[in-house]
Parts: sequence; C-alpha cells; structure tokens
Amino acid sequence: MSKAEVPKDEDLRLATLRECCVLDTPPEADFDDLSQLAAELSECPIALVSLVDCDRQWFKSAIGVNVRETSRELAFCAHAILREQPFIVGDASIHPLTCDNGLVTGPPHIRFYAGFPLRVSNRQSLGTLCVIDTVPRALSEDTLRRLKMLARQAASQLELRRLTSALTIARDQAQKSDRLKSEFVANMSHEIRTPLTAILGYSDVLMETAPSGLLAKEDYAHAVGGIRRNGDHLLSLVNDILDLAKIEAGKLDFEPRRVSPTQLAQDVILMLRSQADAKKLKFEMVVEGEVPESIVSDPKRMRQILNNLLGNAIKFTEIGSVRVTLGCDQAQNEMWFAIRDTGIGISESQLACIEKFEAFYQADASISRRYGGTGLGLKICQLLIGLLAGRLNISSEVDKGSVFTVVLPIGEKLDTRYHDTIAPAIANSASTNLSSGCSADDEIVTTREKSLTGVRILIAEDGIDNQRLLRYFLKQAGADPVIVNNGFEALETLGSMVQTRAPDLILMDLEMPVMDGMTAMGKIKQIDPSIPVVALTAHATEEIRRQCLQKGFDHFLTKPFEKSSLVMLCEDIAKASRRRTYDAALLVD
Ligand code: ADP
Repeated sequence: MSKAEVPKDEDLRLATLRECCVLDTPPEADFDDLSQLAAELSECPIALVSLVDCDRQWFKSAIGVNVRETSRELAFCAHAILREQPFIVGDASIHPLTCDNGLVTGPPHIRFYAGFPLRVSNRQSLGTLCVIDTVPRALSEDTLRRLKMLARQAASQLELRRLTSALTIARDQAQKSDRLKSEFVANMSHEIRTPLTAILGYSDVLMETAPSGLLAKEDYAHAVGGIRRNGDHLLSLVNDILDLAKIEAGKLDFEPRRVSPTQLAQDVILMLRSQADAKKLKFEMVVEGEVPESIVSDPKRMRQILNNLLGNAIKFTEIGSVRVTLGCDQAQNEMWFAIRDTGIGISESQLACIEKFEAFYQADASISRRYGGTGLGLKICQLLIGLLAGRLNISSEVDKGSVFTVVLPIGEKLDTRYHDTIAPAIANSASTNLSSGCSADDEIVTTREKSLTGVRILIAEDGIDNQRLLRYFLKQAGADPVIVNNGFEALETLGSMVQTRAPDLILMDLEMPVMDGMTAMGKIKQIDPSIPVVALTAHATEEIRRQCLQKGFDHFLTKPFEKSSLVMLCEDIAKASRRRTYDAALLVD
C-alpha cells in the first residue's frame, strides 16, 4: 500500500490538534449528530469524525464501528488531509493508494470511502468527516454538497474547542499574574512596613529623650519631627498601593456598621487641622439642615475618603478656606459631604481627565512637582465610594476653587438630628505640637505611664531594631518584657517561665526563622491555652488577620504600630486577665 506523505506543516498541524483538547475525550452529541447525519445522507453504514494524530487516527465520533482508533498507516484519512478537495475512492480494491490496505484486504473490507477534510480557520487539516461502505459506490452532487456542509460544521466545532481552550489558558494566566501581582504588592508592603516600624518608633523615642546638647532643642524636635512626618507619609503611600491592589483584585474588606457622619468628619478635621493651621487656612465644618445621627456604612473607608479629599483641598489651597458641609436628602435616603476649597482649581479639560479617575493621573506635571503626590488618591476615593454604593461629583473653577461632593446612601432609616447653623466644628487646634516635643498620643501614654507595671510579656521577634523598640516602649510603660528571636525559642522560654511565673501575654511576630509565629501559636495553646497571644505583623491584610484569629491568636496588631496602641492593647489584655483571675478566685471562695 502506498503510505500517505506527512503534511509539510505537520508540527503546526499537530500542535493545532492538541490545542483543540479533543483527543481521547468521551463521545459528544455535537460530533455524533453530524456523523449520524452523514451516514443517513450518504446511506453508508459507517461514518466517522476522524482526527489524524502523529501515529494514529482517533475517532471523536464513530457510527457503525466499535474501534476508537487505528494506526495512521492504515488511515484513508491520512491521504484525505493532504487534499484541498474531498478524497473519494469509489472502489478501494482497485485504487492504487488503497488496494493493498489491510482494512480493504481484511475486515471490515472497505470498498467505498469519501473523506471531507476538517480545516480549522488557520487552514490546517486536522482530520476528516468520512463515510465508508463495504460495496463500491458513488455519491450524487447533492449528497457531496451536503456532506461538505456537515464537514464544515464539524470543523467549526473543532475551532470552537480550540478557541475555548485558548481562552481558558489566557484566563488562567491572567488570574495567575493577577495573583502574582497581589502577592508582590503584599510582600512589598510587608517588607516596607517592617523597617518603618523601627523608623517611626525610634523617632518617637528620640522625641521623648532630651537632646544631648549637640542640637538646640527646637532643631532637634524639627529633625525628629521630620523623620516622623516622612515616615508617616511613606506609610500612607504603602497603604494606598496596597488598597488599590486589593480593590482591583476585588478583595477590599467592607465592614458596614453604624457610624456618626458628623463625628467622623470632626475626627478627620481634627487630624488634618495642623496642616490647615500651618497654611493659615480657615478650616471648618458646616451642617446644613437635618443630617442623620448615624448611617450604616464602613467608617474606616469613609474616614479614608474624607481624609484624602480634605488632604487634597488643603494641599491645593494657599489662601482662604477649606470647608466640609454635611447635608441630607431624605427623599433619596442619601447624605452628602461637600468639600469646598478656595484653592488653585482645575481647568475644564483637566477636570474631564480627572473624572475618568485613572490611577496615577495628575492634572499637570508642574502641579505635581510643586505639590507632590502620586495620583492614586482620587482613584482610590472613587473606588471606595463605589464600594460604599455612593458617588463622587466634582466641580471646579481655575483660581477660584473646587468642590468635591461625596454622596452616600444612608442605609436603614435612622433617627435624624437637627443642626440649624454652622457647627462650631473643632474650635482649637489639637495638632501634634512638634516644637514642644510632645504629641497628643504621647500625652495619652504619659498619663498612662507605668500602666503596665508588673505585667510580664514574652516577645518573639527576629528583627533586632524592633526588639529594642518593643523593649523600650514596654519597659517605659512599666512592663517586664522577655525577648526571644523566634517561635522555637518562645516555646522553650515559655516552658521554663510557666514553672515559675507564666507571662501575662505573648507578642508574636509571624515571619521568623527556625519556627514561624503561626506554628508556634498552635504549640503555645497546648502548653497553656489561657495565655493571650497577640499576632504582631507587617502583613496588614484582612485575610491574614482572619487566618491569625482562626489559628487561635487572641489579638492582631499590625506594624508599624503606635506606642499608644501597643501599650493600650497590652493594658487591656492584662486588665482582662486580672479580672478573670479575680472572678475565678471569687468562685473558689
Ligand atoms: P495626588 O496624590 O496627585 O494629589 P489625587 O489622585 O488625589 O493625586 O489627585 C489627582 C490630581 O487631581 C491632583 O494631582 C490635582 O491635579 C487634582 N486635584 C485633586 N484635588 C484637587 C483640589 N482640591 N484642587 C485642585 N486640584 C486637585
């Protein structure tokens, strides 16, 4: 028998065949219907959808035979795929290409064969739709035409499979690179947070210790204040990038609860007042008509939005005022915060671009050089407002100022409170007073000084700077810290501590060499389940927090932490465990 040649583009053809993902798959009605129709139209007992693989022909559909494949050497279809037109053999026993073929000389004794090449759109012929009979035959023009149509349908099915699997691969790759991007951002955030913990913490330490005489007290405070402010700025950039990545990955946590809009706006104003004061801007809050006492929304996200918009208003205003107006549209069950400034304003063409809310867009390069910024703020605001089911409207006039209006749904119908005039807002500056070397936070700690007296704290942390910082903060608050380098050492030390006096709480970093925090946590609860353990980590994501709490951690504190939050958390834990001991003692009595 004359063996069929191998097509010139065989490698490409086989690759295309593989891309269809149909070889060795179960029979499917899509193909079986076509071969059944072909058998009926041609009145042949056998009809196949045959795919020519490297050394076999495999039948995706087979009517009238029980085999699923034969060797390629025996395949009539191997000849058919070399042709543009159908390959028709009226009597195989006398055709030079097939007369000595085993399927002709032996069972099933093929005599008639008509194979219609299955071409996918890039022209490769992957196999045939063919009809076979055991007696010599001919086909009418009409039947030929109809069989060609069926073959085109079979080829379209193959093409569809190929496109679907290409799409699936592309989607999987996109998901993978999305995941890699998110992991990268989370990792970077962790890596940046860790040194920031030391930078911010040490600037606090320096702020509290008197200068040694090398610098005047005021210069010293400015220098340290500079480190602190820049560290804070760096932290807010890291948070922005992490937020943007989370929002884009659809993973931003949204925690609705009751929140007082006036209180929240006042808090944000309080936080930003020092910036407005430094530029001698009038900074006030006005409540127009009735606004709800509380709405149902996510306070963390609302704070973030207001902080961003008010921060921009102050940044882009040199003279005049920044005013937040709160109002409510009861009919629509909505309320709004309008942030109005008398700053540089935005031109019509720039406004059109800004309203597209592209990340990293800044109205004009000279503005960004002068005022700084990343162009992430408005994009994040827009996405967060969307998350809260609200909307953001912007109106602005160059050199006159801008109004950014955030409209939010009120949620369930709630009580309203009437405010009839300009609220006194925040009368006095409560800003961080750098020149005196004392901040609002510090005051809280000072009044709580030594509030951790006698509290024994086991700390597992591998970073030497952060070890020193934690020791300093906790000792200063009166605690008795015991520091180890990893989870394994924590277990060893805990084992010996419980013999004498168990720690009142454990601060546990998550990523440490030898034994990480999660692993150590599981084992600690076996030694003494009653000791509260705080996860102390630069992984500032909701997912990690959930994992920690699931693993048995009692609390979660992210780096960088404020001294006051660290001390307060330890204080609360110590108080709670004292209360438990006291209650237990009463029960015993
Ligand atoms: P940036 O970090 O640059 O402030 P944003 O996304 O917050 O990034 O703002 C994007 C751009 O929109 C800013 O660079 C500025 O050109 C313009 N813009 C935002 N708020 C104001 C405002 N209150 N007044 C004038 N221009 C503003």
